[in-house]
Amino acid sequence: MKITYSIIAPIYNEKDNLPELHRRVSEVMKTLGQPWELILVDDGSSDGSTELIRELARQDEHVRPVIFARNFGHQLAVTAGLDYSRGEAVVIIDADLQDPPELIPQMAEKWKEGYEVVYAVRAEREGESWFKLWTASLFYRLIYRITDVKIPLDAGDFRLMDRKVVNVMNSMRERHRFLRGMSAWVGFKQIGIEYKRAARKAGETKYPFRKMFRLALNAITSFSYFPLQVATFFGFFSAGIAILAIPVVIYLRASGSQAFFGQATTLIAVLFLGGVQLISLGILGEYIGRLYDEAKGRPLYIVREAPEEK
Ligand code: UDP
Ligand code: MG
Repeated sequence: MKITYSIIAPIYNEKDNLPELHRRVSEVMKTLGQPWELILVDDGSSDGSTELIRELARQDEHVRPVIFARNFGHQLAVTAGLDYSRGEAVVIIDADLQDPPELIPQMAEKWKEGYEVVYAVRAEREGESWFKLWTASLFYRLIYRITDVKIPLDAGDFRLMDRKVVNVMNSMRERHRFLRGMSAWVGFKQIGIEYKRAARKAGETKYPFRKMFRLALNAITSFSYFPLQVATFFGFFSAGIAILAIPVVIYLRASGSQAFFGQATTLIAVLFLGGVQLISLGILGEYIGRLYDEAKGRPLYIVREAPEEK
């Protein structure tokens, strides 16, 4: 049977959201009246979500489980979902029901009009801490500024993609993934629709600051050399200051001023330069570490159980 819609939901300890997710997605997909599948990617859950996913798959043939051998992270869980999806249109959705499945028909409408990527823009966000809102907003704006791709502001991974786009994305096997960036990078006809992002249905966020920070680093290093250029800039900046400072200091010394006597000045200069150098080295390290990861060529994720057919 040819599948029209694939819905992908990454699951990391979402036991309390799963039944509701399944129910709401099923309801919405029924109204669309086309063959569909729900790919539930279990990203190393430890709260019993795995058993629940198997159970759902037994009850409902629309459900296709992909079960990871351990936790690989949200972006890789979605990647596996994309790999296993068969639909002509593929929708990525969060399992915690922050992204309403009821928006899928609107996305499908745009898809039928000929758009190949329909991304959902968060016009409003409910039930999230000011810290999350603030860092998220800052993050989207920073990425927009410093990367070469124009990644839509305030759009998460909740989106519908045409099979053509998914095939291109699946051919991009980079390890440190930032899917919304990749899906903007590929081009095609794209459009955003606005929605109100609800609060999490149950459970806690699975994106603590540490993971958000890592995602931000992946986004920046995957799509921009800006941090490396900052190092160059600081190099020229410090050298420029030195060139200007030399004649000034000579002049002041010669005219008997006490301004640049003493160790404090030297100490500050050394610390400043040492700091800049170490930071630059760290930035360089980020890129080299990523190169190293790519060179090892390990699989992006490891599945324990998955449907036969990709
Ligand atoms: N998720 C995952 N692996 C992880 C972290 C999160 O598969 O290591 C899933 C999670 O189950 C959810 C989605 O990614 O379906 C988004 O995570 P979450 O809702 O915690 O992020 P937030 O909405 O707070 O940014
Ligand atoms: Mg969430």
